Amino acid sequence: MKEKIQAEFNKHFGGEGTVYASAGRINLIGEHTDYNGGYVFPGAIDKVIMAEIRPNDTDKVRVYSIDIDDTAEFGLNEEDAPKQQWARYIFGICREILKRGGVVKGFDAVFAGNVPLGAGLSSSAALESCFAFALNDLFNGNNIDKFELARIGQSTEHNYCGVNCGIMDQFASVFGKKGNLMRLDCRSMEFEYFPFNPEGYKLVLLDSVVKHELVDSPYNKRRQSCERVAKRLGVETLRDATKEALDAAKSDISAEDYFRAKFVIEEKERVLDVCDALNRGDYETVGQLMYATHNGLSKDYEVSCEELDFLNDIAKECGVTGSRIMGGGFGGCTINLVADDKYDNFIAEAKKRFNEKYGHEPKVYDVVISDGAHKVSE
Ligand code: ADP
Ligand code: MG
Repeated sequence: MKEKIQAEFNKHFGGEGTVYASAGRINLIGEHTDYNGGYVFPGAIDKVIMAEIRPNDTDKVRVYSIDIDDTAEFGLNEEDAPKQQWARYIFGICREILKRGGVVKGFDAVFAGNVPLGAGLSSSAALESCFAFALNDLFNGNNIDKFELARIGQSTEHNYCGVNCGIMDQFASVFGKKGNLMRLDCRSMEFEYFPFNPEGYKLVLLDSVVKHELVDSPYNKRRQSCERVAKRLGVETLRDATKEALDAAKSDISAEDYFRAKFVIEEKERVLDVCDALNRGDYETVGQLMYATHNGLSKDYEVSCEELDFLNDIAKECGVTGSRIMGGGFGGCTINLVADDKYDNFIAEAKKRFNEKYGHEPKVYDVVISDGAHKVSE
């Protein structure tokens, strides 16, 4: 990818700039926990957005997207927003740095990527983090701290792309470290690295390529359930609730609210259990906890769908170590931890049986936990 970007940069702008990259991400466990003050457990992956960038001594930005084969040119004032959606991510990063009192001047850039778009691996966070990291290095002497870089990406989504996301994706893309997952506490924003080197296993995502759009907002309904139970239990968020307290209040809350809260409380514990297992290098236990999360998401939180449950069943039948829905649910991917000797059969079976039932194969993305935002070359 780097050679191609350098060739295109030379063709469009002449000479060379500095090359930067940042990564997409997975979340091993910790689903629907962020808005309940709990933990998420993401890591950066070996799929990146890479950009070559050079200041151009003007007040204009010129960017060429190799994958879209399109050029955008824009100024750095609020009214200069480009019309192309892909360029708004870059414009947003510039604006959010400037709004915080940072420095951004004109630059030329060429970029490309291999994070699948819209598959739940957060190509948009990779794009944001790549440019945020680069502009911090080129214009700000790396004075902006890394958490702020993640927030700059998040604000870009909110203010320039119309996506009201949390901080996890940008956090993972900025802080990702090879061979490590990160447990982020969504209440205190503290985080800790945990070793993830599953020798003898592969991590693979199966993308069902389905997305069920539901009539009422299932996400908001679940948030409301969680808030109602937290209030009833006298805690700020379900992070502070226990299973015992929930059970004691069971007769006062609706069955639906009970099961939503039960999932969230159990999921918080599962993240902690995964951390213990990783510290022991016990990937079989990690896998069992992933299945438990899938079961909870499907039966208690009710955010699965037929296709994802089917992929989960195939994983179980093929002896896959761990498998679960990744992301908000109602479609998208499963994330699977598979022993090397089970891998080929699992992928073949999943493709064949899914195709027989739904008329298309799932897409397969192998991932390795890798570095987040970094400089690739001077
Ligand atoms: P995801 O779940 O992958 O983050 P989003 O819809 O949030 O999906 O972001 C995808 C958008 O990010 C694309 O529509 C495009 O604007 C931008 N993008 C991602 N990767 C690339 C790329 N390689 N080249 C150009 N734009 C990209
Ligand atoms: Mg996105």
